[in-house]
Amino acid sequence: MNSIPALEIVIVLTTLSLLSYKLKILDLYGTLLAATIGGIVYLTVGRIGIFLLTVFVVVAGLFTKLGYDRKSLVGAAEPRKGLRGWRNVVGNGLVAAAAAIAYALAPQYSEVILSGYIGAIAAVFADTMATEVGLLQKKEPILIIGFRRVEPGTPGGVSLLGYMGALFSALILITAYLTLGGSNPLAPHIVGSSVVAASLVGTTVDSIVGQLLQGRYRCESCGKIIEFSTHCGRVAKLVKGYRLMDNHAVNIVCSLSGAVVGAAITLLFYSTV
Ligand SMILES: [Zn+2]
Repeated sequence: MNSIPALEIVIVLTTLSLLSYKLKILDLYGTLLAATIGGIVYLTVGRIGIFLLTVFVVVAGLFTKLGYDRKSLVGAAEPRKGLRGWRNVVGNGLVAAAAAIAYALAPQYSEVILSGYIGAIAAVFADTMATEVGLLQKKEPILIIGFRRVEPGTPGGVSLLGYMGALFSALILITAYLTLGGSNPLAPHIVGSSVVAASLVGTTVDSIVGQLLQGRYRCESCGKIIEFSTHCGRVAKLVKGYRLMDNHAVNIVCSLSGAVVGAAITLLFYSTV
């Protein structure tokens, strides 16, 4: 635990909650859950933790709205004008929240767990950016396994621009981490390597799991293949993957892979010096 004044925590979390709600990044329940996770992170990982989480939510939120009309036109935009709910918060924040709690429980491993925490965020940040930046390109993405061209927004679809988006988010996260200067427990080269690796691995894992396991449905009214179990106001038929493996579950796997990679790289650096 650290000794951050309670007043600071209340003011910062209230301000961030109002902003994410007013800017329509998160809906009401999404905002409340994010504020809860934010509180946990603030009390455990501290200022650096809340700062990185905020950078992810704000930048990913803005890029979701970037070119929204064009993304809608190809049918691949986030629903509800990019407004995200509590399920999105669980998918993107659960592993980071667990890492934050572990950070407080096992202070003797703080560097490695912090690296896992950052890796968890790096992975979902990169995956969101890969999707949202990738959707801006005209060319269709290719499937990560089999390289077949697919419709934009298809789970498993990847593109060069998407991976550049992932690297861009890694750069933003590393810059954000280094901005906090002297309070950094992790050296720049360690943070740099684990964030880049967690971003690329997380994005790739998300695509592979998305292509192989994510539930896909056919709407029996309009015939469209969709990621949601309802369409046109009725229940759609499962045609591929698993019902439990929805987009949010895939995000949890993505985040977990980033946490493992982030922690492993830091462990590697510490065991070789
Ligand atoms: Zn339909």
